[in-house]
Amino acid sequence: MLPNSAISKDSEFAARLAAVEERIERACRRAGRPRQSVLLLAVTKVFPAAAIRAAYECGLREFGENYVQEFESKSPELSDLRDVRYHLIGHLQSNKSRRAAELFDVIQTVDSAKLARRLNELGKPLEVMIEVKLSEEESKHGAQLEEIDALVEAVRALPNLTLTGLMTMPPWSEDPELPRPYFRRLRSMAERYSLEKLSMGMSNDLETAIEEGSTIVRVGTALFGSRKRV
Ligand SMILES: *Cc1c(COP(=O)(O)O)cnc(C)c1O
Repeated sequence: MLPNSAISKDSEFAARLAAVEERIERACRRAGRPRQSVLLLAVTKVFPAAAIRAAYECGLREFGENYVQEFESKSPELSDLRDVRYHLIGHLQSNKSRRAAELFDVIQTVDSAKLARRLNELGKPLEVMIEVKLSEEESKHGAQLEEIDALVEAVRALPNLTLTGLMTMPPWSEDPELPRPYFRRLRSMAERYSLEKLSMGMSNDLETAIEEGSTIVRVGTALFGSRKRV
C-alpha cells in the first residue's frame, strides 16, 4: 500500500501530464501536424528517481537529464524500467563523456568536434544532436553558428554516432513569442543539413516551438512543478 501522500502526488502528476498533453495536441492541431510528430521529453533534473518512475507509470518513455553525476545516482533505482530512453540535455565536459555514453541513449548537447570524437571512441552506438548557440548570452552553451558546418561534417564522419538533429535553448522569457525567431532559425538550419529532429521548446513556450516545427519539446516545470520547491 502506498501512503496517501504518494497517491495524491501521483494523481497530481497525472493531472499535470494531461494538461501538457492537451497543450501539445492543441498546438499540433493549430499547426496542422500529427500529434506523433512531437515527442514529449520529460525533464527530471533535481527530481528524484521516483519522479521518473511515476512518469513512466503514466506512459512516458523518454527522459531528459542535465547532469551526468546526478543521473548516475538515480540510474541504479531505475534498472527495471524497460523501453526507456534517456537524453542528456545539459552541457557535457569531455572528461565526463565516458560515463555519459554509458548512461544515456541520446546526447543532445554535442558542441565540439573534440567532444564528438571522445563519445565516438567509446564504441557504443549513440544518437547525438548538436546544440546550437543562437543567443549571445554568456551563460548559454552550444556551438557557434560559424562552427556548425564543420561540426556537422565531423560528427557525420564518426561511425558510432548518428546525428539526428539540432537542439537549442533561446534566452528565457516570460513571453512565449520572444523565442519564435530563434526556433525559426534552428529549423532553417536543420533543413539546410537535412536533419530531421529539432529539440526546442520548454514548459513556457512549447506551443511556439511546435508551430515552428519542433519535434522534441523538453518539459520540466509543467510536469513536475517548480524546481525551487525541492
Ligand atoms: C531545465 C531544462 C528544461 C525544462 O525547462 P522547464 O522550463 O522546466 O520546462 C528544458 N531544457 C533544458 C536544456 C533544461 O535545462
